Amino acid sequence: MNLLIVVPCYNEEEMLPETTCQLSAIIERMEKDKMIKNGKILYVDDGSRDKTWSLIEKYSSENTKVCGLKLSRNSGHQFALTAGLEWAADNADATISIDADLQDDVNAIIDMVKCFNNGADIVYGVRRERKTDTFFKRNSALLFYKLMNRLGGKIIYNHADFRLMSRRALKSLMKYPERNLFLRGMVATLGYPADVVYYDRRERSAGESKYPLKKMISFALDGITSFSIKPLHYITYLGVVFIMISIAVIIYALVSYFDNEAIQGWTSLLISLWFIGGCILIACGVTGEYIGKIYIETKRRPLYFIEKRAGMSENNTKDENE
Ligand code: UDP
Ligand code: MG
Repeated sequence: MNLLIVVPCYNEEEMLPETTCQLSAIIERMEKDKMIKNGKILYVDDGSRDKTWSLIEKYSSENTKVCGLKLSRNSGHQFALTAGLEWAADNADATISIDADLQDDVNAIIDMVKCFNNGADIVYGVRRERKTDTFFKRNSALLFYKLMNRLGGKIIYNHADFRLMSRRALKSLMKYPERNLFLRGMVATLGYPADVVYYDRRERSAGESKYPLKKMISFALDGITSFSIKPLHYITYLGVVFIMISIAVIIYALVSYFDNEAIQGWTSLLISLWFIGGCILIACGVTGEYIGKIYIETKRRPLYFIEKRAGMSENNTKDENE
C-alpha cells in the first residue's frame, strides 16, 4: 500500500525541519512493520514568503521520501490542501492530510493506517479535548459546530483537516466541482465506510497560527453558506410569523377603531405596517427558495457514488468512480 502524507505549508520554515523528521520517522516505522509498502510526504507550499520552498527543495533532493508542490501564490489552506489531494488521488492508495505545525498528533497516523487496513475508506482524526486552545477558540469552535449541525451541514465534531482517505474516497471528493471549498464538510457527505481516531491536540511548537480571528470567522461563514440553504428558508418562516402577528394586530386595531379609542390614522398605519412587512418577508423568502435551488444546481455535486457491485462482469467492477 502506498501512503502519501499531504502537508500544506504557509511560511512554515521554523516547523519544517521538525515536521520532516517526525513524519519520516513514522513512515519508516510503518514500512518496517509492513503496515505500508511505501510512504511519502508531499509538501504543498502555499505561496510562502520565507524559506519554506527552498527547504522543501533541499529535503526532496536529500530524501526520497519527500516531494513538494509550490503554488504560484498564497491561495489559502483549503486550496493548498486540494492541490495536494488532487495529486495524491492519482499517486497513492491512501492519503493523510495533516497541518505542518504538528498540533495534530503524528502517532495517530499509525492508528489511521490500521483502520484503513481494516477496511475504512475515511478515517477522521478527532481531538479528544482542546485544552491547549485558548478559551475563546475552544468555545467559538463549539458554537460553530453546533450551529453548523443545526443548519443541516453534516460535520464531525472536533475534526479539522487531519484525516485519512482512500483512493476511491479521494477520487469521489475530486468530483465535487464547487469552488467554495469546505473540505471537512464535503468529506462528511461522501459516505463509504468510515472510522474515527482520537488524539490530543498539542500547542504549536514554532511559528504562529495563520488563522487569526478574522480568517476564522470568514471560514466559519464559508462553512455555513457553502452547506446550507436553511437561512433562506428561515426568511419564509419569519414572513409567515409576521403575517400571523399582522392578523392579531388587524383585529386589535379594528376593535380599537370601532371603540373610538384609536387616534386618526393609527389603525391604517398599524395594519399596513405589519401586513406589508409580512408580505415583503414572504416575497423575499420565496425569491430565496429559488436562489437556494439555483445555488444547489450551480454546485453540480455528484448525485451518488458507487461503493460496491455484485454479479457484474469483471471489467465493470474496476475503478468504480474514475
Ligand atoms: N496554511 C496554508 N495557507 C494559508 C494558511 C495556512 O497552507 O494561507 C497552512 C499552515 O501552514 C498550516 C495549516 O495550514 O500547515 C494550518 O494553519 P495554522 O496552524 O496556522 O492554523 P490553526 O491551527 O491555528 O487553525
Ligand atoms: Mg495549527
